[in-house]
Amino acid sequence: MRALLNIDFTRDFVADDGTLTCGKPAQEIEYQVTNLTKKFYEKGDYVVFAVDLHEKGERHHPESKLFPPHNIRDTEGRKLYGSLQALYDMIQDNENVLYLDKTRYSAFAGTQLEQKLRERNINEVHLVGVCTDICVLHTAIDAYNKGFKVVIYKDAVASFNAAGHEWSMQHFTSTLGATVI
Ligand code: ZN
Repeated sequence: MRALLNIDFTRDFVADDGTLTCGKPAQEIEYQVTNLTKKFYEKGDYVVFAVDLHEKGERHHPESKLFPPHNIRDTEGRKLYGSLQALYDMIQDNENVLYLDKTRYSAFAGTQLEQKLRERNINEVHLVGVCTDICVLHTAIDAYNKGFKVVIYKDAVASFNAAGHEWSMQHFTSTLGATVI
């Protein structure tokens, strides 16, 4: 059984005016991210939207010293980007769709993701979204450590850091044994 993990494809991470945007590289994968999500959904696979969540004015979160505020609860910036939000609006009530708040890079950190996957006997996770070298990478590493097979879509991940993106792409295959397609 497999699941699609759709990671952090929000306005703050993708739009030109997003507060922590990957910019053009992320905008260029919008079609692929939405299309893959739709395909998994239509096949009846589990679709997880793993979305960074921060609170206004939080001071103790480690990211508060590393990045500008982003994905603040109930802001426009935390909405999914473009056609992905439209797709989510249509499919959100389905039992195979999970919207998962996460507060760290990895979608597994402090969330129920692992239990949700185990309940459904899912042993393979397919990753799309941003940023390749931060949240996608950390989610892939946790998935590897927990024994999940990992598949990455090279045309559906992006970063603001081109060197970090390239390094991660080879790390996925050479170190995590992931399939990159
Ligand atoms: Zn964050």
